[in-house]
Amino acid sequence: MKSEVEIYDTTLRDGSQGEGINFSVMDKLRIAEKLDAFGIQFIEGGWPGSNPKDIEFFTQVRRRKFRNARLVAFGATRRKAVPVERDEQVRLLLGAATPVITVYGKTSMLHVKSVLRCSPDENLAMIGDTIRYLKDHGKTVIYDAEHAFDGFKDNPGYALATWQAAEKAGAECIVLCDTNGGCLPQDIARIVGVAKGRLTARVGIHTHNDCGLGVANGIAGLEAGATHIQGTINGYGERTGNCNLTSVIPIVHFKMKRAGAPARSLPKLKELSEFVDEIANLRHDPRQPWVGQTAFAHKGGMHVHAIDRVAHSYEHIDPAAVGNQRRVLVSDMSGRTNILMKAVELGFKLASEAPETRAITAEVKRRESLGFEYEAAEASLALLIGKTLAHRELPFKVDGYHVSIRSHNGSSICEATVKVRVGDKTAHTVAEGDGPVNALDGALRAALARFFPAITGVQLTDYKVRILDGVAGTAAKTRVLITSSDGKRDWGTVGVSENIITASLQALVDSMEYALMK
Ligand SMILES: [Zn+2]
Repeated sequence: MKSEVEIYDTTLRDGSQGEGINFSVMDKLRIAEKLDAFGIQFIEGGWPGSNPKDIEFFTQVRRRKFRNARLVAFGATRRKAVPVERDEQVRLLLGAATPVITVYGKTSMLHVKSVLRCSPDENLAMIGDTIRYLKDHGKTVIYDAEHAFDGFKDNPGYALATWQAAEKAGAECIVLCDTNGGCLPQDIARIVGVAKGRLTARVGIHTHNDCGLGVANGIAGLEAGATHIQGTINGYGERTGNCNLTSVIPIVHFKMKRAGAPARSLPKLKELSEFVDEIANLRHDPRQPWVGQTAFAHKGGMHVHAIDRVAHSYEHIDPAAVGNQRRVLVSDMSGRTNILMKAVELGFKLASEAPETRAITAEVKRRESLGFEYEAAEASLALLIGKTLAHRELPFKVDGYHVSIRSHNGSSICEATVKVRVGDKTAHTVAEGDGPVNALDGALRAALARFFPAITGVQLTDYKVRILDGVAGTAAKTRVLITSSDGKRDWGTVGVSENIITASLQALVDSMEYALMK
């Protein structure tokens, strides 16, 4: 039987090194929860020794339950000439309180001499001491061998000695890293093969995409005997990015026929990819393999009946297997399948052929054409489904609002008034804020709190704005994505309008409605 492949996600650490990617603590929590739900085995949350935000993440993540994933803190071996128990960075690693710790260390003699400026033996001691110390504290330790391939090419004997030092100290997995992304698949395969022959620990692979070979090199590593692969969702990462797990996961499952991410999750791959892009506030790459919008798009022009057959022969796999869809068919069944899957996930019962399902699908498609996106706004989608199915009365209605900005001695003050109706009662409130949306949120919340005291426990935790391109003469639109939290759960809502205030209000109203309907 072919051995299982461990999928190790480093979107939150290596991925966040990518240009234009900046995750808040809340963003990281939401992504971690999504990865866990998907069934990723390891989630590397960050490097507590490198920044306070990552320490904060590890503090907050402790309150959440993970069902599938093991959380990992990342860090370096102890410094030279410092006893491991006195090394501050190692202390912070333990402080993250994760079950697994990944430690990286030097493989290359060149780096030991010119970067660390210590003796080759001291480097071996730094690797061994750190891993042993963490093992003594009950941790599972993964060892990331930096510059493993370049180091091996340079001095194979020393490279092996560093990996063996890590193994001897108790590392569960020795991960060979192509840190600068310059290797070709045959180098990767050859050196992983050598490591496999000389080590008894699990061998892993960590690659970068500098030659456009991030995924190819990762797969070459697996073919050569590695059983652990590190990468990021959508290939985020420094320079041209890391090995893209969004490709690795389906390749391991469908092409290599090995167990990796759970089979039940594969149809949610596209959704995972879009979710992470939404949180990162990036446009989803339409040409991304497997999950991109054009990954299974076929130019039309054929007779409808022929398309199905012909398109099929141009597809290496059924698009639905990864949650994607073919984009030539006139009657779009797969759109409905996605909605059904989402509805079940949100706790609704829907039959494929029910008129409600058609109505919801049509409404979602209509809204998507206006610029709405539901990947990271599950609460807005749940409301839409709930309203159609249960014909529920809204808990409240916003009768009117007003926002103004005043400039006073060089600083600006925003003020918002909101009029809310609940049954035959109304509340009219005013609030100030440091921005128009903040003021609007304050006024809406104050009005609702009179009727629903529980609303005071709900907090707006994140706010993102995206300008959507104007199409064919229409004005550009603004999409607002809001994340709210009641301390136990987070949910996302969306609003779209030509006006940023209106879009924000839609997302805010959805957020409050969702909080009240839960
Ligand atoms: Zn890396």
